Amino acid sequence: MTNPFEQLIEMTRALGDPARDYVIIGEGNTSLRLDAESFAVKASGQQMQGIGAGGFVSVKIAPLLAMLDDPPTTLTEQKAITQSAVIHADFAFLPDASGGTEGGLASPSIEASFHAMLLHECGARYIGHTHPTAVNQLLCSEYAAGFALQRRFPDEVVLCGPQSALVPYADPGLPLALEMRKVVRAYQEEHNEAPKLILLENHGLVALGESAAEILNITAMAVKAARIYHGALLTGLPTHLPAEEVEHLYRRPDEMYRRKLFVQK
Ligand SMILES: [Zn+2]
Repeated sequence: MTNPFEQLIEMTRALGDPARDYVIIGEGNTSLRLDAESFAVKASGQQMQGIGAGGFVSVKIAPLLAMLDDPPTTLTEQKAITQSAVIHADFAFLPDASGGTEGGLASPSIEASFHAMLLHECGARYIGHTHPTAVNQLLCSEYAAGFALQRRFPDEVVLCGPQSALVPYADPGLPLALEMRKVVRAYQEEHNEAPKLILLENHGLVALGESAAEILNITAMAVKAARIYHGALLTGLPTHLPAEEVEHLYRRPDEMYRRKLFVQK
């Protein structure tokens, strides 16, 4: 088993594989909680496909959470605070880090603030944010809420949770992090646990998990569910599972056991 940071690199490369059609060029970003105070996040301008240790920066969580509680008014101030939170500009110094992009860029992704917020609020260890074409077909349509709030088949419930948290469109960066925090808190209030899948209207998805494998599973299942919903819309009237059935599936001991196995892989 490789170390958690190596797993972050492998997960990011897998999400960036062109064959999956989750992201292109510099789209998307990923993160990993390193310890109580810090996390690793993709550096701004890096491509997920073929990324190496030098494509990530380590960042302190506290200054980014403080920025959400007391948002600065200008983009320049936001950038200065985000930059001041950087601990290491790249991970190439790690003896066991794999190769890849050399020399790392010093700036964390513009989305570092939502990663900090989700790692803190939801207790996630890994986060994967992508813009899959199949999912965005729905998130850029009037079917976004139907896709996020309903479940159509059992494995979608098991992997992606009873519902996805749906975030109205917001400007990427701090406005999006603030909108997301509102939605995630309301979701936790209603479901007594953090969402596994967050859908951003007219933007993309965020998968939250305990392991790199869980992020890949949730993203793959969200893409499959999107294709099924899209296909059902084309052929006629899509159906969905009743709420009681979704709850039953989600709480079934054998399904909870399966879910645990998927997380470990
Ligand atoms: Zn994005």
